[in-house]
Amino acid sequence: MASQLSPHLVALLDSLSEEITLQRFPAGALYVVATPIGNLSDISIRALSVLEMVDAVACEDTRNTGQLMKRYGMSKPMIATHQHNEAEAAQKIIERLQRGERVAIVSDAGTPAISDPGTRVVDAVMSEGLCVVPIAGPSAVAAALSCSGLSGEGFHFLGFLPSKDAQRDSALQALSSSPAVLVFYEAPHRVLDTVSAMRQVFGEQRRIVIARELSKLFEQLHRCALSEAPAWLAADANRQRGEFVLLIEGAKRSDGESDSMTDARRLLTLLLQECSVSQAAALAAKITGVKKNALYTMALDITNQQS
Ligand code: SAM
Repeated sequence: MASQLSPHLVALLDSLSEEITLQRFPAGALYVVATPIGNLSDISIRALSVLEMVDAVACEDTRNTGQLMKRYGMSKPMIATHQHNEAEAAQKIIERLQRGERVAIVSDAGTPAISDPGTRVVDAVMSEGLCVVPIAGPSAVAAALSCSGLSGEGFHFLGFLPSKDAQRDSALQALSSSPAVLVFYEAPHRVLDTVSAMRQVFGEQRRIVIARELSKLFEQLHRCALSEAPAWLAADANRQRGEFVLLIEGAKRSDGESDSMTDARRLLTLLLQECSVSQAAALAAKITGVKKNALYTMALDITNQQS
């Protein structure tokens, strides 16, 4: 690929800057800005102009975001906003917004609030009646899903599975008959174990897509039957390095789920018409003898499918 932008692209970028002015960027608003998940050029022109415009940037890791801003030739006051101080940070952000400032929130990579801090800040800002503006862009879930070619009835994004084996297996079990494409984030040191557990629970034939290092130098998208996936990962140590999205194709009806779980799913579907998720899970556990945790996750899955 050519290493420089063609004159056409340079002119296009210039002309697109006019499009930016077609949108209002209200003062006193929180801008939720997606940043690259790997390749630094995956940032939108709109995201760059918002980062340049705002009075402060709330970010997970000030060093990380400082580097990113430096790469884009910008510097802004930063508000550390991570999972341990989100409520406190939200108050600081709200005070700035109430003074009429514009504040951006970014995470270390991708879209804030997708398996990243951001939800509590957005919730607090909205609860104060203040404006929130999405600046859409990269997210590993969307990038991986769009290149998976897997079919299902919609998709269900689960983020990270529990780190303890028993809880992970019970979460997988509860999803085993979901007809949606299942999308998970996974850490490199757990990917082989997780894929082996998926093979156990979902069966040999179900297809998986292993999406690794998206938009980076060693990007890899590998699709195969679950029966082959652990061996593929184990065949080369490099295949277990980096960042991963795992996608499992949706279950064909009655695929991979024991009769008792299929019965439990039917029962939960009925109970959810009358009860909350936790009440339905508790009642179904009493009736079927299946563990309540597994039924709770299954009930959430059904609710998500219905919404
Ligand atoms: N907010 C981010 C988003 O919008 O995708 C996700 C943040 S989450 C803390 C980080 C996880 O996302 C990684 O452990 C990995 O599972 C996934 N991820 C992020 N970047 C990725 C990439 N370039 N390739 C594959 N997976 C990625």
